Amino acid sequence: MNSDRLSKRLATVANYVPKGAILVDIGSDHAYLPCFLAKNIGITYAVAGEVAVGPYQSAKGNVLSEGLSEIISVRLGDGLDVVKPGEVEYVTIAGMGGALITSILEKGKDKLGSVKRLILQPNISAISIRQWLLDNSWMLVTEEILEEDGKIYEVLVAEKGKDAIDPLIPYGQSLEEGLLLGPYLVKERNAVFKKKWINEKKNLQRIYQQLENAVQTPDTIEKKQELLHKIKLVKEVIQDEESKWS
Ligand code: SAM
Repeated sequence: MNSDRLSKRLATVANYVPKGAILVDIGSDHAYLPCFLAKNIGITYAVAGEVAVGPYQSAKGNVLSEGLSEIISVRLGDGLDVVKPGEVEYVTIAGMGGALITSILEKGKDKLGSVKRLILQPNISAISIRQWLLDNSWMLVTEEILEEDGKIYEVLVAEKGKDAIDPLIPYGQSLEEGLLLGPYLVKERNAVFKKKWINEKKNLQRIYQQLENAVQTPDTIEKKQELLHKIKLVKEVIQDEESKWS
């Protein structure tokens, strides 16, 4: 992969960054995403943020060799510390766990005042991002799920909830189901979504069985109850599909 041709995963993230955008890409690693956007979408300006020295140097090297130093500023630092309040309008964070993405957003809240859109691609635990968006009045405006090289990824796009807009709207009647599975993804129920949740249900059932075989403490009993509840939510959504596959 290089900055001329992105992976399907990063290309999906890139699709939500418009021409003229001023953005920060947190955890940019090689800076492929901002380089691609600068060369192909015509963004105004990007900050590529990295907390680790190796990836920061790799990003710096790529931006320099692509001749993009005027458009992309590569900065070393933790999460949103690399930007000033009011500096950017779009934030991309891809290729990390949902909990880490959430903690970056939480710690960098003071930098989000000028931000119009968050484009987030968690490798796991999208639920923690949806919960954070809801708690912080960000409206989830769309979601995508895709498979690449045998791995399944989700992309979540959120916009600042105007005072009049209730961020609960996308979740409709079932907040719990929407938080776990994604309100737009549940509605669409495409083949990748079904594949993901058939596998996840098996994983949840396997963990449940392990806990069932362990010494029963109040903690294991509580965990088992949580798992059963999750399994029920997943079953309700993929039930029809499973009978087709079995
Ligand atoms: N965003 C790229 C992508 O999706 O292909 C790279 C993903 S890579 C797996 C995760 C990157 O995030 C690593 O380079 C890591 O150093 C960086 N990272 C992790 N925590 C970070 C933080 N708090 N602030 C900035 N970068 C971080």
